[in-house]
Amino acid sequence: MAWSQKETISRSEMQALQLAALQKTVSYVYERNTYYRQKLDAIGVKPSNIKSLDDIRLLPFTTKQDLRDNYPFKLFTAPPEEIVEYHATSGTTGKPIAVGYTRADLEVWSEAMARTCAGAGIDSNDVVQNIFGYGLFTGGLGAHYGALRVGAGVIPISGGNTQKQIMLMQDFGTTALTSTPSFLVHIHEVGELMGIDFKKLNLKKAICGAEPWSESMRQSIQEKFGIKVCDIYGLSEITGPGVSFECWEEQNGLHINEDFFYPEIIDPDTGDVLPSGDEGELVFTTINKYGQPLLRYRTRDISTLSYETCSCGRTLVKMARVSGRSDDMLIIRGVNVFPSQIESVILKREGVSPHYMVIVERKGAMDSLRVKVEVTEEFMIKAAADILAGDGFDILEDVAAVRGKKDNLMQDIKDVIGISVEVQLVPPNSIQRSEGKAKRVEDRRPQ
Ligand SMILES: [Zn+2]
Repeated sequence: MAWSQKETISRSEMQALQLAALQKTVSYVYERNTYYRQKLDAIGVKPSNIKSLDDIRLLPFTTKQDLRDNYPFKLFTAPPEEIVEYHATSGTTGKPIAVGYTRADLEVWSEAMARTCAGAGIDSNDVVQNIFGYGLFTGGLGAHYGALRVGAGVIPISGGNTQKQIMLMQDFGTTALTSTPSFLVHIHEVGELMGIDFKKLNLKKAICGAEPWSESMRQSIQEKFGIKVCDIYGLSEITGPGVSFECWEEQNGLHINEDFFYPEIIDPDTGDVLPSGDEGELVFTTINKYGQPLLRYRTRDISTLSYETCSCGRTLVKMARVSGRSDDMLIIRGVNVFPSQIESVILKREGVSPHYMVIVERKGAMDSLRVKVEVTEEFMIKAAADILAGDGFDILEDVAAVRGKKDNLMQDIKDVIGISVEVQLVPPNSIQRSEGKAKRVEDRRPQ
C-alpha cells in the first residue's frame, strides 16, 4: 500500500503541486545563490518567466562538473547554520562532490525512503538489516531514515562482515535486507559454504540498488534467498536513495517521487526534451530542497518515463530500470556497450556464476573486449569427475564441452551487444569480491 496520499493523486493535482514548487525553487536559488543567479542572468531568465511546467526548458542544465567546480559549498543555498548533515560522493576521479541537507531536506529524504520501504512491503513488523554503507555514502543513512519512519526495526550493520551478516540474519530474525545486489550474491556464496539454507530463515524481502544490475540478477537473488526484491534508484547529488522505487506488486519500473524530484528525459547529445516514452538521459530538478537545490541536473543515467497507471494504485510516473550510466558506458569500436547487458547474458547460462569482469584493451589501433567469467563449483566438480572417470578419449570430449560453453557464451554476448568479445572462463572464487559496490570494468586503454 502507498505510504503517502501524494502517491495516488491525479496528474493535474500533481502538476499543480509541481509548478508551485518549481516556481518557489527557482526564486529561492535566484535570490540566494550567486552561481545560479549569474547563470540565469547570463541567459536572461528571471524566476517570473516560469509560468508553466514546460517553462522548465528555459532553465540551464547543471552537471557533475558544475558541482566539482563549486566544491565544496558554493552551490549550497541555505546558510551554514541551517545545514544539519553533510554527505559526499566517493570521488574516484578528482575531488568528490559535497552535499548538504537542512532539517527540511532530511524530512523529505526520510519521506521519500519511507515510500520506498512501503513500496517493497516493509512495515513496522519488519526487522531490516541495512547492509548499505553508513558514512559519507548516502545509502546507509537514507535506508535507515526510511525504515525508521515506517516503524521497522533497523539493524545498522553497514557493508562488509559477511559472516556476521549471516549470523545476525539467523539470530535477530531479519525479514528484510537493503543492500547492493552483488553483495547479496556474495553473502549467499559464503553462506552456502557454511551450510546455510537461506530459504529456511525469516527473510522475505529486499531492496537492492546503488549499482547497475539486470533483471536476471534479480531473478537469481529472489530464487537463492526465497525473497522478493525491489529495485531502488537515487543519487547523492539529488538526495541519495529514494529518488524512485519499485512497488512489489509489479516490480516493473520505478515510481519517481515526483513531488520532490521533477523528471525529464533529454537527448544526451542535443539537450532537447524527448517525447514521453522515448529513451534518453534522465534529468532531475529538486523542487523541495533547500540545502543544495539542483536545477535540471544531468544524471547521465539512461531510462524512459511511463505515465500509465500502475496496478499498485500509485499515479507517480515510472522510470524504466536504468539500462546503464552514460559514465559506465563503454564505447568500443564505435558501439555503446553497458556491462549490465553482458551480465544479463551470463546470468541466463548454467555452469557460470554472476561474477565477471569486463576488460577493455587496445591492441594496435583496435579496441578489444574480454570478459572473464567464473565457472561454478558444480561445473568444476563435474568436469574433474568426468576426467578422473574416463579415458583419454573422454578428456578430449570434456575439453570440447568446455570450449563449446565458451563459444556459446561469446556468441550470445555478441548477439546482445553487437560486437565480438573474447570470453575467458576462470575457476570459482578467482575474481575479487567487493563488500560494497561491485567493480565490473577494467579499462586498460591509454587515456
Ligand atoms: Zn506500482
